Amino acid sequence: MTLSEQQVQAALKEITDPSTGKDFVATKSARNIRIDGNNVALDIVLGYPAKTVAADIQKQVTDKLKSLPEIGGVFVNVTSKIVSHSVQRGVQLIAGVKNIIAVASGKGGVGKSTTAVNLALALAAEGANVGILDADIYGPSQPQMLGITTKPETKDGKSMEPLERYGVQAMSIGFLIDTETPMVWRGPMVTSALEQLLRETNWRELDYLVVDLPPGTGDIQLTLSQKVPVTGAIIVTTPQDIALLDARKGLKMFEKVGVPIIGIVENMSTHICSQCGHEEHIFGAGGGAQMCRDYNVELLGSLPLDIKIREQSDTGMPTVVADPDGKIAATYREIARRTAVRLSEMGLDHSSKFPNIVIQNS
Ligand code: ADP
Repeated sequence: MTLSEQQVQAALKEITDPSTGKDFVATKSARNIRIDGNNVALDIVLGYPAKTVAADIQKQVTDKLKSLPEIGGVFVNVTSKIVSHSVQRGVQLIAGVKNIIAVASGKGGVGKSTTAVNLALALAAEGANVGILDADIYGPSQPQMLGITTKPETKDGKSMEPLERYGVQAMSIGFLIDTETPMVWRGPMVTSALEQLLRETNWRELDYLVVDLPPGTGDIQLTLSQKVPVTGAIIVTTPQDIALLDARKGLKMFEKVGVPIIGIVENMSTHICSQCGHEEHIFGAGGGAQMCRDYNVELLGSLPLDIKIREQSDTGMPTVVADPDGKIAATYREIARRTAVRLSEMGLDHSSKFPNIVIQNS
């Protein structure tokens, strides 16, 4: 008896991708199944970047197929293909950018920028092409956290080249606005400056652009979330009740403008003692998880309050690159993978496939 495609499909349906919680047939990742006698070859095309887990997936699928009766050779090729997903209606897409992830918070100081930069670096570590746009007008900090000391250059006098560090392309509103200018003046300048920055940067083939939004849920943030073509938003919060109340406002804001929430990141959820390494829930446990249950959103991950996180980003080398084998970097990578998986499950952008419909008066 020779092997059939049905047998292969049935076997593939019995194993679960730990990242998606689904089997490879359900996610349409198993493709191009070729059978030759008792040998089988197939491609697993993941919708998320998976450099650190690709070998595990290859082994998982190979082992399963090897367990089929009278199986010969098994050849499994695992790759990732990140596609563009839909954004709010009527907002123009950005050239060279497939997906925009907005990182927001209800108030300042909760670790939004630190989360945004580590998320960008973790997505890059998983093999994606990533950029970061620092839109935090109150305190643009991405160049410092990435250790960037130069200013962007222009080749044609009209557009700017993103700066590059640790394999991530970066641009900051800090290059365009003077942070010494009083906030009352900065506010109205911001939306146009930011749109300019977003659209006049020569982003090079990005799978993901992480946008570090200004903290809060006021007019500026609302306007930005209407003008930036966002695929999904992440809200960073600390566990204190008041911060959670602010975070709830963030959820409402994105709901209002039709941007899907990817999930919540709970930052400084426990305290790690720098002397003994003991972990303590100084703000009480489970606030972020409760909010996620109340609003039916995912808790993407929780990070401890750990002096190393601050020290590493202060010296221009965030945790994901400073200590890639550590526990905290692993948490950031897990958050990045959850984010990419959630995005891969969102609606596709079909704008490039449909013809333009022009209505003419004749
Ligand atoms: P926001 O963007 O929300 O204003 P930042 O990311 O700039 O906040 O973080 C504020 C300060 O807290 C920074 O000095 C940063 O290094 C520090 N920080 C952020 N997250 C953590 C953490 N989990 N542990 C320790 N320090 C942190």
